[in-house]
Amino acid sequence: MQKIVLASRPDGAPTPENFRLESADVPQPGNGEILVEVHYMSLDPYMRGRMDDAKSYAEPVPIGGLMEGGSVGKVIASNDPSFQVGDFAFGAFGWATHGVAPAKQCQKVDAEGVPITASLGVLGMPGLTGWYGLNEIGQPKEGETLVVAAATGPVGSIVGQLAKAKGLRTVGIAGGAEKCEIATRDFGFDVCLDHRAYDDAKSLRAALKEAAPDGIDIYYENVGGKVLDAVLPLMNPHGRIPLCGMIAWYNAGGLGADAEGAGLTAPRLWRTILVNFLTVRGFIISNHWNRMPEFHREVAPMVADGRVKVKEDITEGLENAPQAFIDMLNGGNTGKAIVKVA
Ligand code: NDP
Repeated sequence: MQKIVLASRPDGAPTPENFRLESADVPQPGNGEILVEVHYMSLDPYMRGRMDDAKSYAEPVPIGGLMEGGSVGKVIASNDPSFQVGDFAFGAFGWATHGVAPAKQCQKVDAEGVPITASLGVLGMPGLTGWYGLNEIGQPKEGETLVVAAATGPVGSIVGQLAKAKGLRTVGIAGGAEKCEIATRDFGFDVCLDHRAYDDAKSLRAALKEAAPDGIDIYYENVGGKVLDAVLPLMNPHGRIPLCGMIAWYNAGGLGADAEGAGLTAPRLWRTILVNFLTVRGFIISNHWNRMPEFHREVAPMVADGRVKVKEDITEGLENAPQAFIDMLNGGNTGKAIVKVA
């Protein structure tokens, strides 16, 4: 089998040298475990955090350790009655062609209905993330206005589509004219702004003001950076900000810095939250896996009948995963970033 390990920690943006492709023996499943031949592997922004040796909500990947990640594949050996050989399973098998995991920590994937790649995106972790953050924290109401960036990615595209279905005005922000076209044509955003076309937050804010003439009620936060700066002063009183991610800063360093230090709050940011009575709530979706069945009941039929559209960006070959990951962090993906492994 082949696997990709963390060769060194990145200083800023990751480079191909931070990863190493290795050969190894196929592992054997222990009691209660399954062995899976991986077909598709997910690339997600959180993996950037695992490459740093900083205090975070999850342990870093050790140097020489298998890069962490979720994937879907065929069960080729099973020591647990809940999985048969030939079943498809989703689990944390890492960046590898084969993986072993406790059956209890894997989910069976229906290979008959929607493509199995849906378990990595729209019906998997990113889809649940968008659904949970929008509904639980965003509390969307008909007639309100929502803004989300990374609008064509798996999180942003589900947020936009579910909000639209609830009767909100949806404003997407994405990198480049092609992605903006996809956002409005395929994902039904009322407007999409290309963040790369604006030099600073001020000019982006002016465009947002036109795109959201009644102000912004929900800012689903995926990116931070210039977009956050542009959006914040346009929030309506009692606006809600599901704080999901801040990818603009993942390569900047310092995110895991000691919280005891000074300089943690920016006065203008804090004041804007205060005087507009904003609700800002962060969440980590792995604390909410118990909501997966409810999410599936609501969204799986919408995917099956085409009310929710899906876009995937599939790279061939495990050996190309590092470059695809580096590209994704910079917006090189159009749709859910996936690697076809087998
Ligand atoms: P995407 O597939 O959308 O990929 C990331 C996208 O971020 C890029 O394609 C790019 O899109 C955009 N981006 C990168 N840099 C910038 C920047 N400087 N300014 C604006 N946009 C930028 O990712 P996901 O949908 O998987 O994830 C979206 C966010 O959700 C991430 O922040 C991720 O960490 C977070 N997340 C959080 C979870 C949680 O539990 N809290 C769980 C899952 C995801 P473009 O080219 O359009 O700019």
